[in-house]
Formats: sequence, structure tokens, C-alpha cells
Amino acid sequence: MSVMEQPGTTSRIVPVRSLDVAAVRRDFPILNMRVHGHPLVYLDNAATSQKPRQVIEALTRYYTSQNANIHRGVHYLSETATAEHEEARERLRRFINAAQAREIIFVRGATEAINLVAQTWGRTHVKAGDEILVTHLEHHANIVPWQMLCEQTGARLRVAPINDAGELIMEEFERLLNPRTRLVSVTFVSNALGTINPVSDMIALAHSRGIPVLVDGAQAVPHMRIDVQELGCDFFVFSGHKMCGPTGVGVLYGKAARLEAMPPYQGGGDMIRSVSFEKTIYNDIPFKFEAGTPDIGGAIALGVAAEYLQRLGMDLIADYEHDLLEYATRALRAVDRVRIVGNAARKASVISFVVDGVHPHDIGTILDQEGIAIRTGHHCAQPVIERLGYDATARASLAFYNTREEIDALVAGLRRVVEVFG
Ligand code: PMP
Repeated sequence: MSVMEQPGTTSRIVPVRSLDVAAVRRDFPILNMRVHGHPLVYLDNAATSQKPRQVIEALTRYYTSQNANIHRGVHYLSETATAEHEEARERLRRFINAAQAREIIFVRGATEAINLVAQTWGRTHVKAGDEILVTHLEHHANIVPWQMLCEQTGARLRVAPINDAGELIMEEFERLLNPRTRLVSVTFVSNALGTINPVSDMIALAHSRGIPVLVDGAQAVPHMRIDVQELGCDFFVFSGHKMCGPTGVGVLYGKAARLEAMPPYQGGGDMIRSVSFEKTIYNDIPFKFEAGTPDIGGAIALGVAAEYLQRLGMDLIADYEHDLLEYATRALRAVDRVRIVGNAARKASVISFVVDGVHPHDIGTILDQEGIAIRTGHHCAQPVIERLGYDATARASLAFYNTREEIDALVAGLRRVVEVFG
């Protein structure tokens, strides 16, 4: 903890909180591992984050003392599991500041959430000749479901272009909004480049023309405070496993009125109020969209993850990661033959790069021998990587538990890569 003089005062000392990273790291058992004889340096957080023991313990607690199916039983365990599951929904509501817990739908992850919106909202609102607008920065999960919807309806997918730095060209985005545009679906943060899109401005522009907006928050929720009411977006989706929660569970947020007006996605148990062969009456939201037995323990553990991040403080996490990203960017720029791909003015926690004359997979393999985990390839975002002139890059993606020492290890590893391929 450090202290700073409050500007404009002479006597008051105001404490400035900062992240205690050494203490945070003790929460993550996997960070003590050694890989190929070296301390693990985990820089693949955009693919999935590591989990703190609080989340691991929540899963163990669920399966050792709470396991039962929810919403249907009158016995103790079922009531406990139901209460914990609904408490998790409330925690996720708080995490993104949704107005109501029933606006939080548990799904498998961002991918399923986008498919759900495409196949329910999309199938009822989109027809031949209509347009869905995305950007050139999207993950495949925010491209392919819309292409499928377009195939089914005869609608057209439009793509807002980016510049060579990997930033959306706002004038072009605005130009593409037209009376045929039914939905804007945009990533908050690019998983391939780290670019932060100006989603507030994009939402304002779309809403001024009466066009709803889906925000893909998969790469935003681990790195910054999210307030869906302040954003005003109609839908917001994210995956638990990128924000210290388990795999297989995530969230679709939708404004209550929109969700209520949408048909269900899958049919089955729990999503109905009554069933007969003549007529089935659907349940209210959120249950209308949660057919079948969900990942109960996963949702509970995701609630714990959300609370864990909030206790650390999303603003402190954002500040710390911003500083680490700047440090890493400077350090990588100083390495001979390394070129950073994607140099947007506003970025979060991702550095894509290439080393001249070395295939990204070889970079990844050599770094792995040093215990350093990065990702190589097109990062499920082929169009943006190709737009910037590559078919693959290496990507280091940071989390709040990473340190400058780990960045130094990455840089030393890259110097070895350059040596090996000298
Ligand atoms: N959108 C973005 C921006 C992502 O980074 C990812 C995961 N890489 C997804 C969507 C899909 O997430 P999931 O695979 O967890 O459904």
C-alpha cells in the first residue's frame, strides 16, 4: 500500500490501494507448478484463466455437501443447491450491475449465449434483406452464429472495417448503420489483438437509430468493471472460465423486456410451467432459457469467482494490468526482430506478435521448453489476423496475477528464439 498527498490539501494523507500481487498469487495453486524444470509462466489467459482456491473449494464443497438437482426437490440438499444456485445468479447480477437477477441466464459460455440470441431473437426479428453488423475484430463465436442466421433467413452480414493499428474505423461503422440493420453485435475487447472497442459510443449511435446491440464481453469481464445499465446494451455475453470461474458455464445478460419477448431456445425440463400434449406453457425468465439440468456446481463456483474479483477490485485489476501491459509492450519492442501486431491506442492485456523469420508455432514450442505458456495461431479470429497481413501470430495474454518478472522471462525466452533461429 502506498500513500499520496491529496491534491489541493496540505495535511490530509490519502491511502491509495494497489493490488498485492504476491498475496493474490498465493490464491492460485497452479502458479507454484514447474514445467520442464522451470517455474510456470502462464501467459495464455485470454484462452482461459487460472482458478483461485476459493473457486476450486466452492466446487469441492458443492460436490461434497450440497449436490442435488435444483428447482424440483423438497428435500434439504435440493433446497440448499437451489438457494446457492440462485445466490450465484444474484452475484453475477451484481458483477455486471444488471437491474434484475432474472436478466442473468446461465449458459455454457459466450459461444452458447450468442447462438441463443441468434436463434431466438434472430429467428423472430431478422428476415431476408435485413443486415447484422459486426466488426472485423470479432472472434469466430461472434461471426459464425450470424452467418448461420443469415443462411437461414436470407439476411446479410456486414463488417465494419479496422485500420492497420487494429482499431475500428468509427466513421465506417456509422456509415454501415442503416434502416436494414437489425442488430449490432460487437466485441468489447479483441481476443486476438487486445483492442478495446468504443462500445459506449457504438451503442449510442446504434440506439439513436433504434438498433439493438449485443456486446461480446468475453475478454472484457476479466479486466475491467462492467456496468450493463451504464452501457445500455441490450445483450451482454461472457464465459466463466476466462474470469477465474470453471469451464462450461457463462452468462447471457439481456434486458428483461427483450428476453420476455423472445421464444425459448431449447425445450425440456425446467423451462416450462406446464406441459400437455395439447399445449405447453413456458416458464418465466430466466428459467425459460435454462432447459434441462444446468451446471449447478459450476454456476455456484462462478458466483464465487465474480465475488473474488470484486473483492480484489476491478478498478485495481484494470490499473495493475494496464501498467503490466505497458511494461510488456516496451520490453517486447526492444527485442530484435519482434514485431507487435495490433497497436491500438486503447488495449487490454493482450500482445500479439511475430518474430521475423520464425513461425509462431516454433516460438510457442521453444517458450514452452522454458515453462512459458503462450498461444500461437489465428486465435479463433482468422479474419482480423489475415486483415493485418498474417495467417498466425504468437500471443501473450496477461492476468492480474502475472508479474514484471514473468514478462522478463518471456523476453529472455524470445531472445533465445531469435538466437536459435539466428
Ligand atoms: N468471444 C471472445 C472475444 C472470445 O475471446 C472467446 C473465447 N476465446 C469467445 C467469444 C468464446 O468463448 P467460449 O469459447 O468460452 O464460449
